[in-house]
Amino acid sequence: MKHELPVANHVISLISELQNAGFEAYIVGGAIRDLLLGRTPKDYDISTSATPEEVRGVFGRRIARIIGKRFRLVHVQYGGELFEVSTFRKAPTQGQLRPDGRPAKDLPEHMILSDNEFGSAEEDAWRRDFTVNALFYDPVRSELIDYTGQGIGDIRAGIVRAIGNPKLRFEEDPVRMLRALKLVGQYDFALDCATENALFNSLELIRHAAPSRLSLELEKILSSSYGDKHILAFHDYGLLAYYLPELEEAWGTPAGMFALNLLNERNCRVAEGLYRNSISLAMATLALPFVELECDHGPGELWEMSPESTARIRSVLDRLFRPQTMMNRMTESALRVLILQALFADPENLDRMVETKSYAHARELLLIRTAVMDGDVDAAARLWPAGSSGRRRSGKRPRRRKN
Ligand code: ATP
Ligand code: MG
Repeated sequence: MKHELPVANHVISLISELQNAGFEAYIVGGAIRDLLLGRTPKDYDISTSATPEEVRGVFGRRIARIIGKRFRLVHVQYGGELFEVSTFRKAPTQGQLRPDGRPAKDLPEHMILSDNEFGSAEEDAWRRDFTVNALFYDPVRSELIDYTGQGIGDIRAGIVRAIGNPKLRFEEDPVRMLRALKLVGQYDFALDCATENALFNSLELIRHAAPSRLSLELEKILSSSYGDKHILAFHDYGLLAYYLPELEEAWGTPAGMFALNLLNERNCRVAEGLYRNSISLAMATLALPFVELECDHGPGELWEMSPESTARIRSVLDRLFRPQTMMNRMTESALRVLILQALFADPENLDRMVETKSYAHARELLLIRTAVMDGDVDAAARLWPAGSSGRRRSGKRPRRRKN
């Protein structure tokens, strides 16, 4: 059907290049969903009949890079933006072998372990997770294609409906449960009845999902400005107990509530452009109340900096994010941000802190916490200037009163 959607010019020209080379190419996924809802897409996913090698042939090696083992796709840097370009896939055959050929007897019968078989645009639509995610848009011809016949209606009605048999779809890939509830949290959508029933009956399957996938979803959640809403939806549907059990256990306690408030404040500050998006800072933000508990301090109180408190902070991070095996680099950075909090107890520590690698994140966490505790954020920001540029040129700081 003809439909005008406000797609940026460089996206249209990327699609044109693929089409001019003789391939089919569409915008798919979240971007179309967002455009139909009148929101600005955060990024664009492109689906094409070109194989990864052919995509690389069209754009050249310098701007097109083939990535992924389980699901090969191409990262194309175009018009200053990064695009994920994937080749049409058909519904995978349920494999009882891992991609490396090892048997996988311990996994659910229908779990998909490999899905790299190319197919047509229509086959590609049917193997997607939800009707609202299966719309294809050709911005050159202004053509919107709804292969499942329910995507446009479901977007209008705000319904998350699994494509095909929901129980089977969650069994094939339990990460789809997280994806369904992210749509619920982010857009205030509702699950359709069959999808909801299947989800309630499949919650524990999330344990079988590959840690790398869970970790990737967690990274997306923590870097999304809707992260707190996603977590709320996981809790409402009982999935949080399997995904982030430590957070679920603390639900309704002062620490649990403080954690969500902090994450919400952090999201508002990112949305207002006050600070950059950072996954490790989001991890530290969510973990802060639990660190305060572990170090035996009330909300807002600071702990001593010592090897013992470092070990305690590390154990909090491990427990909170354990099932995801978050990337080490991020955990280490979150750890540094939390360790540095102890030094905010004394303004004389500024010189010692300001040149450290994690000062900017640590300071931002201090401001987030100050805001949530109804403190004077401006005063805190003045007391702890942002990096060396925020300090007096002479290098001398005015003496601060100790209190
Ligand atoms: P976002 O706006 O967060 O990027 P999205 O729906 O675009 O949301 P992506 O992870 O970018 O999410 O995935 C792009 C598209 O790929 C989805 O819209 C969906 O059609 C398909 N997809 C992603 N993950 C799965 C999955 N596990 N099973 C089936 N289809 C999937
Ligand atoms: Mg996307």
